[in-house]
Order: sequence, then structure tokens, then C-alpha cells
Amino acid sequence: MGSRDERHRHNLVPLAALLSREMKSEKMEKPTLRYGYAAQSRKGEDYFMVKTDCQRIQGNPSSTFSVFAILDGHNGNAAAIYSKDHLLNHVLGALPRGLGRDEWLQALPRALVAGFVKTDKEFQSRGETSGTTVTFVIVDRWTVTVASVGDSRCILDTQGSAVSVLTVDHRLEENVEERERVTASGGEVGRLSIVGGAEVGPLRCWPGGLCLSRSIGDMDVGEFIVPIPYVKQVKLSSVGGRLIIASDGIWDALSSEMAAKSCRGLPAELAARQVVKEALRTRGLKDDTTCIVVDIIPPDNSIQPFRPPKKQNKFRALLFRKRSHNGANKLSKKLSAVGIVEELFEEGSAMLAERLGDEFSSKSTSGLLICAVCQVGLAPSEGISVHAGSIFSMSSKPWQGPFLCADCRDKKDAMEGKRPSGVKVA
Ligand SMILES: [Zn+2]
Repeated sequence: MGSRDERHRHNLVPLAALLSREMKSEKMEKPTLRYGYAAQSRKGEDYFMVKTDCQRIQGNPSSTFSVFAILDGHNGNAAAIYSKDHLLNHVLGALPRGLGRDEWLQALPRALVAGFVKTDKEFQSRGETSGTTVTFVIVDRWTVTVASVGDSRCILDTQGSAVSVLTVDHRLEENVEERERVTASGGEVGRLSIVGGAEVGPLRCWPGGLCLSRSIGDMDVGEFIVPIPYVKQVKLSSVGGRLIIASDGIWDALSSEMAAKSCRGLPAELAARQVVKEALRTRGLKDDTTCIVVDIIPPDNSIQPFRPPKKQNKFRALLFRKRSHNGANKLSKKLSAVGIVEELFEEGSAMLAERLGDEFSSKSTSGLLICAVCQVGLAPSEGISVHAGSIFSMSSKPWQGPFLCADCRDKKDAMEGKRPSGVKVA
């Protein structure tokens, strides 16, 4: 039990230490956020969300962070609307209380996974069909955390660096890994066949015929279409950067590079409109087309719009640099000084156990066990470790948390293709 005690001690940061850390980060200059959005509707299934007044600590304006999201619905708009209304609360509900900024940011990737799965589970329990992509972006000062299912991409354009993609496209057509996962979980991947046996259109997954391998909702497709998001967290350098978040109406018409270039030099509001205009010019209005542009602007040039990079820098090859475990802060400062975006976290596994890890604090403030996904309290006999009975059980710890309630355990099995086909919990 030594390791458990250690873990427990590690979770408790003395208040004084927390405050002093907070004060230090207060002294670092805060970037200014500017954003704009634009949309052209064809089916009325694209939704977006902008919330710039969220607070990590209620009533403390210096703990403010912003959320931007694009939700591209299919087979109806119910899943997109439900996710827009509930996902943020589900993510925040999965974050332990009383964390300082750094701890909070570290806990975010796990909370995003729990929040996505909970939203999916609760939407499905309403018995409505339809599904949605979600690209959910949290901006806390210089740190950008993106969680996504589906194919609504988020890109980052930084001065002097190449354009980088902060999401992966969960499209069966383009994602070999996801194709393999779906097939291994019992799904069939193929194209629509028309009379005469000719195959048409993109790769789809059967049952259901969805082109995406991950989404929220979609209770009428195979359960291997999972809501577990790809998550990436980066820290921008002090030159800031521009995020472009958009539905596939944009990305089917423009490459990431083209979208970034088309709006450089314009302020965020005009930039979003320009990206949509450019996509329509290239391809016409074939689909709902929605775009959010977010500029993260250093304090000393907060009035100027995001400027295009000057001449291509020969030494820009190193865009992302993984955080090393030793001396992370020192490294971070150095990277920031040379304008390099630091990658803090990246994980795309579709396996819930891998995503919830084993350092999760599985006790509520009252000391009760809670479900790591839906946050309900568990009776001592009720919690099932996320690691129990897994194929990795040789190396995992079935007696340790995080724990899941029976419902969430059931959902986990279904997502891994372990539930007998045809049996579905509505
Ligand atoms: Zn649960």
C-alpha cells in the first residue's frame, strides 16, 4: 500500500505552495484573445460554441479560460445540440476541485475523455438517433488543449513556423489505424455498392454506414464508433498564434495550409469570413460550412491583427518539441524564447482504460468512490476497476482505480467490441 499512500500525498499540494505558484504565473504576461466566426448553412446541422468567460475558480477573474467548439451533426441535429449544451459541464465535472493552473491543465486531457464519454452515454440514453463530430478547444493563456472526435479539424498557424494540425481526422477513408480498430472490434468497413456491384463513395462502417470512426451519439451504428477523443495540448511561444477550427465544409475544399494562408493579416472576425468565402469559391456550398478563428496575441502587440510570417526561417524545422521530464520549466522558457510551440500532451487511443490511466483520484471529497466517467458515487462493493479483466491484466492493477459504475463498465466493454452483437443498452 506504500504506492497508494505516496500517490495520495502527491495529490495534496499544500495551499501555500499552490498560492505561490499561482502568484508566479500571474506575473507572466497574459495574451489577449480575439475571435471571429462565420457560417454558411446547407443542412442546418453545424453548431458552434464560443464561451470566453469560464472560470477555473468561481469568482476569480484571473482564473478565466475560454472554450471554442465546432459540432457537425449528421442524421439530424439532436446530438450536436445536446453536446453543445452539456459537454462543457461534463468535462468540468470530471476535474478535481481546488487545483492550481498547472495541475488543472494536467488533469484536463483525462477530464475531456470522461466528459466526452459521459455526454455520449447520456445522449444515447435519451433514445434519439443522430450523431455529431465535436472539436472542443480550451484556451488558458498560452496553453491550448484540443479534444476531438470526427473530422472537424483545428489547425495552428504561428509566426515563423509551419501550419500544424492539432486534431486527427477520424475518417475511415483516411485513417488506417481506425479502420483496423473498427474491424478488430467486429465492424465491417466497405463502400456502398450499387446495382451491378460497383462500389461508390467513401469507406463506411457497417452496421450504420457512417464514414466516421468516432463521434458522439449514433446509437444506431456499431458501438465501436466511440466517443473517445484524440487530445492534444500545446503551449504557444510568446509570439502567440492563430487557431482555425472548422467543419469539413472547409476542409473538403481547402488544405490546412490554404486555409491559414487565405486569411493571414486579417483580424479574426474578417479572417473567419474569408476562410468560409475561400472554401465556397473553391467548391461551392455543398455542405454546412462553419469556421471559428481565434487569435492568441502577445500583450505588447495586442492591437495589431495576427501578422503573416516574415521570410521563411531556415531554422524553423523544429516546430514541436516534446516536454522532457527533467527541467521542464527551464526548457519551456527556452523554447518560448525561440518561438517554438511546446507539445505538452498527445494521446489518441480508443481504449478507455489507457485514457483514464491509473493515477486518477477516484475518491470524491467525501471519501466515497466515484465513477471516473459519470461521476456518480459508488458503494464500496460496486466499483469495478477500469483495469479489471482487461487483456493487459498481466501488467495492470485490477485492484486500483480509476473505478467505473456498472453502466460505464458495460459501455467500455461495448466500445471494445466485447458486448455480444445485437445487445444494446438503450
Ligand atoms: Zn459511470
